[in-house]
Amino acid sequence: MQGMDDDLAFLDEDSAQDPEHVRQPWRVLVVDDDEDVHQATVFALRDARVLGRNLEFLHAYNSAEALAILRETDNIAAILLDVVMETEDAGLRMVGQIRESLGLHAVRIILRTGQPGYAPDIEAISRYDINDYKTKAELSRSKLYTTLTAAVRSYDQIVRLDAGKRGLELIVDNANRFMAEQGSAAFTQGVIEQLAALIGTEPEGVVCSLADEVTAATPDDEVSFRVLAAVGRHQFMVRRPTGAIDNPHIRQNLIVALRSRKNQIGRSDATLFFASRKGGDFAAFVEAKHPLGEIDAHLLEVFCANVGICADNVELVSRLRETAYVDSLTGLPNRAAFIEAIDRHLASGACQQCVMALIDIDQFSETIDLLGYRYGDQMLIEMSRRLRGALPEEVFLARLSADIFVVFGSEETINPAVLREILADPLLIEGGTQDISISLGFVRPDEDEHGAADFLRYAAIALKRAKADGVGREAYYTPEVAVETRERVRLLQDLREAFGRQHIFAVYQPQIDLESGQTVGLEALMRWRGQDGRFVPPDRFIPVAEQSGLIVSLGAWILRSALMTLAQLHAQGHRLRMAVNVSMIQFRHADFLDTLDEALAQSGIAPEWLELEITESVAMFGQADFEERLAALKARGVLVAIDDFGTGFSSLSYLDRLAADCLKIDRSFVNALDSDKSGARIAEMVVGLGRRLGMRVLAEGVETESQAEILRQLGCHLAQGWLYAKGMESAELFDWLDQRQGG
Ligand code: C2E
Ligand code: CA
Ligand code: CA
Repeated sequence: MQGMDDDLAFLDEDSAQDPEHVRQPWRVLVVDDDEDVHQATVFALRDARVLGRNLEFLHAYNSAEALAILRETDNIAAILLDVVMETEDAGLRMVGQIRESLGLHAVRIILRTGQPGYAPDIEAISRYDINDYKTKAELSRSKLYTTLTAAVRSYDQIVRLDAGKRGLELIVDNANRFMAEQGSAAFTQGVIEQLAALIGTEPEGVVCSLADEVTAATPDDEVSFRVLAAVGRHQFMVRRPTGAIDNPHIRQNLIVALRSRKNQIGRSDATLFFASRKGGDFAAFVEAKHPLGEIDAHLLEVFCANVGICADNVELVSRLRETAYVDSLTGLPNRAAFIEAIDRHLASGACQQCVMALIDIDQFSETIDLLGYRYGDQMLIEMSRRLRGALPEEVFLARLSADIFVVFGSEETINPAVLREILADPLLIEGGTQDISISLGFVRPDEDEHGAADFLRYAAIALKRAKADGVGREAYYTPEVAVETRERVRLLQDLREAFGRQHIFAVYQPQIDLESGQTVGLEALMRWRGQDGRFVPPDRFIPVAEQSGLIVSLGAWILRSALMTLAQLHAQGHRLRMAVNVSMIQFRHADFLDTLDEALAQSGIAPEWLELEITESVAMFGQADFEERLAALKARGVLVAIDDFGTGFSSLSYLDRLAADCLKIDRSFVNALDSDKSGARIAEMVVGLGRRLGMRVLAEGVETESQAEILRQLGCHLAQGWLYAKGMESAELFDWLDQRQGG
């Protein structure tokens, strides 16, 4: 971990100066709620000497402890201060107390934070004269040492000058005030103003850095500058295209200061050099209305040193801001940046017909599961490129979260047709192609009292609505959609709670052999008794459970319950099959086969007594995946029934390949048997089809004797319906079975 750098950093240039003289160590207070940070800091600096003196560490684990130490201990040179402790800004608050209540202005403060996201605002840094700001990750041994050395040196200067020099406090304060200004132009202009105030004159001057192409070897007469700021009668220079400075006196002074890296104090002007660590050195030329003789050069040096640090901090903070505003994967603006920009836009009233849309990649997490995170990242990068490339420049595009992008622009571009067209061609990823299906949620921000964050929420509601209909859909936000979503969310909450409290239970509906009249099987059906005692129909809660993924646990639960009940029935001599409904989400879930094996093992039921009912639509999803899973069921000997047959679009050949054990004719066709000719024909066709493919055929929802009779004549094997029994809880079921056998 420690390279050359680290070792070199410990060659302290001042340490050899007076080896005999044992001086007081520099006191450094470490404030952090994480013990590891204390240890790591002390370890990193264990044998460090700064300006020829050792370091002595004091430790505090919260603000109160730190303040107590600061009250009792003199001469603390620097504080390494954690921003986030008891609260998100405990550190920053403490700085206020140190400077204001305790009145300690000399101690140097280095803020540390875990994440860039916690960057305190620039105002706080300037107001409280914070020396430096580092993320914890940045504090390697050598960096920590450099940072601390700079702080201690600064502290040393302040203390030394404190004794006699007037206004130093003021200077440091003033120097820091620049940072409240964003951007370097305002900052450098502030430098001139403060310098002028310091030497007691009107602000007249110019701040320059050398142009990039200038090197040490460039002859003086070819040097060009970048004018960073100009004040007073020099103001015109700012608007000059290149930094040619005509005044030979100013020009010469700036060149000398920048090349020698030293201040030039003249009779009635000063040219000051500011070293910036990032190589962005600059110099300021300031005119004075009176001789500068009595100005202490040392004072100006301290000022310059402090301003240099501030300049670095301005840059550092803007870098931290940038990381807080840019999505590092795609380089697109992130959520925070988007909200800020759109709020500004909305406030300007510039967009009358604007639309915001969320773009969500369908089945992104499944894709990652299958192809890995690297592939997923690549997808997101390609997606952002495609969108940015195709959308007009004035459309605002950002990445909101994992696989959700957001766009904001005029209705002409931000609509389903255009957005889908942009993503119609597959993405090129790792040399292959990847089709992209997207769900879209739109909102038209028309009420001006709302902010961007509200509209994002509305768009998210619309997106939820769209996804409730399946993949590749879209929806626009309306108040009705909001109500519906809220209801769905409430239903889901209630459902979770009901499941937790065991208010969900199973009923069993018998399946009858039409030829013999014998009960040969049961179908397990889920029931939910609500708080008010009323039943919530499965057609309402199953879709919500599917959307939320709760169906996975619900499904596992009913599978276990049904098999346990079946085990009891078998034990009592009722040799029946058990049919259990399996939803698509559950069927595709990675744990499905394990859950199945466990439930079988736990109940001791042989697999051929279990039949899984899968709807036709499930059977049609991604054929390869489905067939693989189906083969795994077959290998176990578990039976498969195609539920609601006739409502989907399975091709005949596909049905043949599926080799299911049972076809269930949908209730709607059975219903039509007595009345409607076409219904009867479909039923007839399905029966014929099933028989030809060697499957059992079961008719659902048989309510009348005549339906049963027609079905029997058609050659349908089995029937299930209210004619025989509704779904029954197990106690009732046991009675029913006993009665039928007896009677
Ligand atoms: P499904 O699988 O088609 O279930 C048959 C539905 O028909 C059941 O409705 C049953 O009570 C009803 N039914 C049975 N006989 C008759 C009859 O003679 N006349 C009429 N009108 N209806 C009859 P239920 O229990 O309300 O379930 C509705 C749907 O909810 C089920 O349709 C199934 O898709 C789903 N579902 C129920 N339980 C579960 C479960 O445990 N897991 C999953 N994934 N879905 C379930
Ligand atoms: Ca069913
Ligand atoms: Ca059905």
